[in-house]
Formats: sequence, C-alpha cells, structure tokens
Amino acid sequence: MKNILVVGSLNMDETVRMDVFPSAGQTVVGSSVLYAPGGKGNNQCIAAKRLGGNVKMAGMLGNDAHGKTLRALLFDEGITDGCVFACGLPTGMAQIQIDREGQNRICVVPSANHAFGGAEIGKIDGALREADFVVLQLELRIDVTEEIVRRAHGYGKTILLNPAPAAKLSPDILPLADYLIPNESELSGLTGLPSSTDGEVVLASEKLRASGVRNVIVTLGKRGVYANSETFTGFVPGFPVRAVDTVAAGDCFIGAFAVGLSEGKSVPDSLRFANAAAALSVQTEGAVPSLPARQTVDAFLAERY
Ligand code: ADP
Repeated sequence: MKNILVVGSLNMDETVRMDVFPSAGQTVVGSSVLYAPGGKGNNQCIAAKRLGGNVKMAGMLGNDAHGKTLRALLFDEGITDGCVFACGLPTGMAQIQIDREGQNRICVVPSANHAFGGAEIGKIDGALREADFVVLQLELRIDVTEEIVRRAHGYGKTILLNPAPAAKLSPDILPLADYLIPNESELSGLTGLPSSTDGEVVLASEKLRASGVRNVIVTLGKRGVYANSETFTGFVPGFPVRAVDTVAAGDCFIGAFAVGLSEGKSVPDSLRFANAAAALSVQTEGAVPSLPARQTVDAFLAERY
C-alpha cells in the first residue's frame, strides 16, 4: 500500500450551546460546553488511518494543554506525528456557538496552524519525498500550502487538494492538484458560477477542467459526489441514511478517497468507498467520534452489493 501524508490544521473545537446568541455587549448563560479535537487536517488524517491508510500527519500545535490532548489523540490512533511541531502560540481553535434552533456561529482562530512556515516546509521535506499521496486543505497559511503543492508536484507526488475553507489561490496552483475536491459552495467560489443543480455542477466543473485541473471531484452532501476526471466522469449517488450530524462528513470523504486511491482502487470504486465512509460518519455526532473503522465500511458496502 502507498504512503499518504496529510499536511494541515489541528484544532480544538469548543462547542457551546445556548438558547439564543448574545447580541453585541450582551451576556447569555449557555447550557453546555464541549471540547473536542478537530481541524480539517486532523480529521482527514484520522479518517484515513481508521480506514487502514498508511498515513502521516504534518502540522503545528501550541505548547499547551490542547496541544497535548491533540498529540495524545494522534498517538492513540497510531498516527506517526514526527512532522507535527509545537510553537509558543496557542493551539488552533474553532469556537462554535449553537442556539436552540440548531443554527451555528463559528469563529476559527488559526493561531499555531499559521506558525507552520518556511522552516517547517524544510523539516517535512523527507516525509514529502517519501509520500505517494499528499493531502492538503486551506487551514494552514495559503502561501505555505501553495509552496507545499509546488514542491509535492515537483517531486511527482499525487496531490489531493480540498479547497476549504474557500480562499483565493494563485492561478498556477489549481492545475498542480491532481485531484481538486471542493463541495458545492467551494466549487461556486472557485469558478464564479452557480452550483445548486446537477447541470450547474457539471458546467462549473467543466470550467475547472478547461483551466487545467485534471480531476475535479465535487461532494454534494446526501446526493453523493460528481467526478469530472481523466478516467471517469459522472455522478456517484450517496447512500440513503438517517443523518444526525454532518460535521466532518467532507473530511471523512477525503480521508477515505485517499485510502481508496492508495490501495490502487479505480476512481469510481474510491468514490463509492468514500461515499460509504461518509454516510456512516453522518450517523454519529461529533467529528472524530463519527469517523468509521474499516471493518464497519466494508460490512456496510458488503450489505449493499
Ligand atoms: P462538506 O461537509 O465538506 O460540505 P458534503 O456535505 O458535500 O461535504 O459531504 C461530503 C460527503 O459526505 C458527500 O459527498 C457524501 O458522500 C456524504 N454525505 C454528506 N451528507 C450526507 C447524508 N445526509 N447522507 C449520506 N451521505 C452524506
């Protein structure tokens, strides 16, 4: 099996529930607070590991209690963390407020994630050369992410780029990603085109292909995924399940897709595998707790053949 290197964010998510959001200057009393590990890089890495991927993590933590918790989690998951560094800034954090209607307001503070810079790019060079697949998102500094994409491409690695959260990238970067994996709103942000209907998704993904992106994979929530790629073009429907929490569904999908490719599966088989893993993840609350084990995904798929 081939090696996967995830380079990305590690955050502590702080979720606070309350009846109504406070307005400016107001204090409200919340009903609960939950701290849980998150960050797109962390989630995608753990998803890939639980599914049997040969995966390493690269990122930056703070030298604080949250950093220790996240490092302990990677250790417990059996993930090689030799490329996870520590700095004097606090560990990255997502502060999530949820009101009684279930609406959320989220503030992400990158902190340590943005301290991953040129020196760290140098330190992960060995891991980058050893990797076959390099998985990136946009929660590290954009200039840093772009530099890693350029290096990984120069080394001939297969790059999976999840352009989330949406951000402006240099025009030369997208064509260097072997697989660009946006959701519908990120697709719209990248192309300036609408992406609410299947027809619009097809047109917007064609625009990306025309600009030089070799494989565009658009996740479509419960509808599944659309691929416009060199070897396969079409919709792969999602699995109908009762969703209770879609947090990290996209991260689970990407970790699983990377594992599928690393095992030599075809693009459509990898998409079906990733749809199955993500469909399982939406049936459990939370990010990391929802990421399924390989056996669970294999059993789920076996029932559906
Ligand atoms: P993101 O979380 O990045 O916005 P999506 O919402 O597109 O990503 O979801 C990613 C993947 O998770 C989908 O392509 C699909 O495979 C799966 N998924 C998401 N929501 C559901 C759902 N309600 N039922 C089944 N599968 C789902």
